[in-house]
Amino acid sequence: MNAHPDLWFGADAVYIGGRWRAPANGERLPLENPSDGSEVGQIARGTAADIDAAVEAAEAALNSEWGRLTAAERGRLMMKMGRLVLERADALARIEAADVGKPLKQARADAVALARYLEFYGGAADKVTGETIPYLDGYTVYTLREPHGVTGHIVPWNYPMQIIGRSVGAALAMGNACVLKPSEEACLTALAFAAIAEEAGFPAGSINVVPGLGEEAGAALSGHRGVKHLSFTGSVSVGRMVQEAAAKHIVPVTLELGGKSPQVVFDDADLEKALPFLVNAGIQNAGQTCSASSRILVQRGVHDRLLEMMAGRYSALKVGRAIDDLDVGPLISARQKQIVDGYLAAAADLETAARGEIVAGAPAGGHYVAPTLLSGVRPDHRLAQEEIFGPVQVVIPFEDEAEAVSIANGTDYGLVASIWSRDGGRQMRLAKKLRAGQVFINNYGAGGGVELPFGGSGKSGHGREKGFEALYGFSALKTVAAHHG
Ligand code: NAD
Repeated sequence: MNAHPDLWFGADAVYIGGRWRAPANGERLPLENPSDGSEVGQIARGTAADIDAAVEAAEAALNSEWGRLTAAERGRLMMKMGRLVLERADALARIEAADVGKPLKQARADAVALARYLEFYGGAADKVTGETIPYLDGYTVYTLREPHGVTGHIVPWNYPMQIIGRSVGAALAMGNACVLKPSEEACLTALAFAAIAEEAGFPAGSINVVPGLGEEAGAALSGHRGVKHLSFTGSVSVGRMVQEAAAKHIVPVTLELGGKSPQVVFDDADLEKALPFLVNAGIQNAGQTCSASSRILVQRGVHDRLLEMMAGRYSALKVGRAIDDLDVGPLISARQKQIVDGYLAAAADLETAARGEIVAGAPAGGHYVAPTLLSGVRPDHRLAQEEIFGPVQVVIPFEDEAEAVSIANGTDYGLVASIWSRDGGRQMRLAKKLRAGQVFINNYGAGGGVELPFGGSGKSGHGREKGFEALYGFSALKTVAAHHG
């Protein structure tokens, strides 16, 4: 069934071995439009039987056409696919807006990012080289970077296109054959990814997509004997389960989990420049971003002024349907709204500095939360410690550099951090001291660059995706030592 007018592919099918087909059990799951609660379409309820078939198809691909392609040929296919994604960027944005509830401009930016991942990894496919190692007399030693084999990719609902681009893109560049399990809450663009790959000419089995429930299709993929590497992006609790399941067959896992990322603003910062970054990093995608900046740490000398500036911006924020392309869309589901509302209820002891506005036309069936800025927050408060995954930011005052570092590093997470200061020495000191996989100086996110390695420590996960670094993770290093006398 293709309920959404932009769907040109079979949204209720699994894509295995180059064929669109009904899931083994014939069952479907409804997909909701978070802007109004209507049904966007139905997706396949893939199960272990479909995952088995997908892994088998991927293994077969490695032993046939896909496995025989040169790195340059793989790269060419990926770049062709990148062009096709760009041509379809508007349709992909509309599909994503309906499925995720993301305002159209943000959804389009994700489509363009997907194209960019395909270009970047397509261009990099034939540039990953081994090395020769000086060794004992009579030996020549060199290294080879080889695909793992079948790679599994479990993806969440918040940035499907970007996460597929960075994870499946890097895996394909290195010659792996992929089995992708998108989220049951938003998976239309994952299916579009398969349809565009087919159009670009990817050989059967190189890319397989099995939508379904996490505890069924996801669990089957993470514990599958035939999978040789797993990339998981999602929550800490599920990440733990995936790692445990993978441990059964000693399968390496990249975990991209959550965060509680701080932006640290010093007295000497350019506040005007910082302002849009501070707020946008908290409300983009309605705060449902792993690298959302949900903590703003402010030195006391500028605290009141900055709070007032941020409050002014918050009060102007408009929340509404994704297709109306306002500042903020709905949350993904009633369940997510309930979680965020629960956090706001637990903030009764905090001061609400400002709130955005849910516009009058926002449908009653949508999952809307007004962006909320909270001030006077103690660093050990629950809202300053736990990932909220909604449009909520807390402002925490600090005295000096040492206290700023201690608060910034004082959560279980370590994904992203930023420093706002004009003092070069302080920038360098903090960049070293902050516990984060990415540190930004006088910006936040650097525009999302696909070139920039990304990943966390602690409960934010381990392993790196994005940039050239990901290509090392999606390949296995082999050392060859030849004795020739
Ligand atoms: P989630 O963990 O509930 O789901 C993620 C994926 O795991 C989905 O495809 C789901 O179907 C699957 N899954 C669920 N149960 C499973 C199981 N038992 N076995 C295997 N797979 C299973 O996460 P979510 O709610 O979709 O996403 C929100 C979370 O993701 C947040 O915590 C956020 O911080 C994190 N996230 C992190 C990054 C990053 O790059 N670090 C990016 C986006 C989202």
